[in-house]
Amino acid sequence: MQKLKEEGYQIEAVSNKGYRLLDAPDILSAEELNSIRKTKWIGSSIVYLDVTDSTNIQAKRLAEEGAPHGTLVVAGRQQSGRGRRGKAWESPAHDGIFMTLLLRPAFLPQQASMLTIVAAIAVAKAVRTALRLPATVKWPNDILLNEKKICGILTELSTEIDSINHIVIGVGINVSNQCFPDGIADIATSILLESGKNIHRASLIEAVWEQFESYYDAFCAAGDLSPLLEEYNSFLINRDRQVCILDPSHPFTGTAKGIARTGELIVETEEETRLVSSGEVSVRGIYGYV
Ligand code: ATP
Repeated sequence: MQKLKEEGYQIEAVSNKGYRLLDAPDILSAEELNSIRKTKWIGSSIVYLDVTDSTNIQAKRLAEEGAPHGTLVVAGRQQSGRGRRGKAWESPAHDGIFMTLLLRPAFLPQQASMLTIVAAIAVAKAVRTALRLPATVKWPNDILLNEKKICGILTELSTEIDSINHIVIGVGINVSNQCFPDGIADIATSILLESGKNIHRASLIEAVWEQFESYYDAFCAAGDLSPLLEEYNSFLINRDRQVCILDPSHPFTGTAKGIARTGELIVETEEETRLVSSGEVSVRGIYGYV
């Protein structure tokens, strides 16, 4: 206790043996995550790392070593967090949630991209129910508050010819960031900046994976996203808006109508209705990020 006082923490005695820290940083640990865990299989093994390169890299390493389906890797800080197509994910210490789920599913490699949509709806629903904040989704996998990004998702796959070795789903959520670097300041925000709330990260982690489990069960039973379509489309910020599809070879604009049951964005142009796959494209609004 003396050491904590010397480190500048304010301490309040709550019994003759216990005390709690006032204004202490929200420090995560495997013990805490285990103690509040309500999921059935996600997090049956939790690996917590104070600092790591990237939770996706660690989850892939654990997968190669035989870690089981449902292993959850959580970090306090990432030194080289990544997004899709090699982009960087800004991951400052203790300000965010950085976590990756390892899956060993029985379905086919071509179904794997739909899991990004399953993860996106789970994060949006968890933010809506656990925090009562009106999260929306920018197709396929960005979660927004007030039209700015609070969460990115990176799904990576290891396959054989017609089977999946493992999938890792990385989720980065901006929790208590007060500001962002120049390049992303106009598109990024945090739960604290939008709501004024300092939330408990472990509880949000738990809420995300509880939601994921139930959507994942529905997805596996159906073999596609049909049970999730209506709700995902109701969260979709792009719905009925003009969008620019930044396809490196054929960029075009149209009106987004929702997603198909295999996860493509349905876009109506003046000539036709097109289905856009997420692989190589980014989506933007006509005038900006959405
Ligand atoms: P987009 O279509 O918006 O470019 P993406 O899905 O292709 O997103 P992601 O993998 O989700 O890309 O995220 C990487 C991008 O997100 C980066 O290029 C950067 O613009 C932005 N970014 C990086 N760190 C953060 C952060 N902490 N919060 C919000 N946005 C971030």
